[in-house]
Amino acid sequence: MRKKFIAGNWKMNTTAIGAELLAAAVVKGLGGDTSVTVAVCPPFPYLFRVGQALAGSPVGLGAQNCYHEKAGAFTGEVSPEMLVDAGCRYVILGHSERRHKMGEADACINKKTHAALAAGLQVILCVGETLAERDGAKTDQVLDTQITAGLEKITAELLAKMVIAYEPVWAIGTGRTATPEQAQQAHVTIRKRVAQLCGPAAAQALVIQYGGSLTPKTADGLLCQPDIDGGLIGGASLKPEEFLAIVAAAKKVP
Ligand code: PEP
Repeated sequence: MRKKFIAGNWKMNTTAIGAELLAAAVVKGLGGDTSVTVAVCPPFPYLFRVGQALAGSPVGLGAQNCYHEKAGAFTGEVSPEMLVDAGCRYVILGHSERRHKMGEADACINKKTHAALAAGLQVILCVGETLAERDGAKTDQVLDTQITAGLEKITAELLAKMVIAYEPVWAIGTGRTATPEQAQQAHVTIRKRVAQLCGPAAAQALVIQYGGSLTPKTADGLLCQPDIDGGLIGGASLKPEEFLAIVAAAKKVP
């Protein structure tokens, strides 16, 4: 039985005070409930501050990216070890905004994944097709390529420290959510490919989140799908009442 996992990706939003207030509101709203795994991923400069607001709560701290080296002359980069030092449990890698706006390729994302896992972080690896790829009936092919390359040299043991987020690019920040059927189908494709790469038991245990304009309105339909194990939430994670409503929807699923 996979535990549902709801994570908030705050992207390049909030201020120091705003981040602290947002984290505090999530902590307060969640209380001590651990029936759903919950995490928030603020921008780098606010990690410490948000970590303090989360202290003693079940809400995990995550970052939105990292570099694959431990330390050295890499101006502007942040290592996985630094994230651990800052109190992070998770790191999002391969987000479509990094793939498409910063030009990150699968090989680079795989390097980062290995480095993050070696440092002790849990990786939320994002995959997903563009609208042109979906319209061209290439969704399965794209997911296959991204999963195969993203999981290169990832053993079943390492996979146990990973989550995959299916995030169709056309649904991210657009208000256009994938239908529960579209998302479920993509999640099945991902799980099948992971089973071929890491074995059926590891694939069955893998948490696969859906991400892309997930809101309290669409949460029930998506989260009750058998292969949708949670959500990676962008816009709605900036509003504590919306984020908490999505967590509540995840709790309702038996
Ligand atoms: C995301 O950034 O991972 C995301 C899913 O964004 P949104 O919920 O705003 O579409």
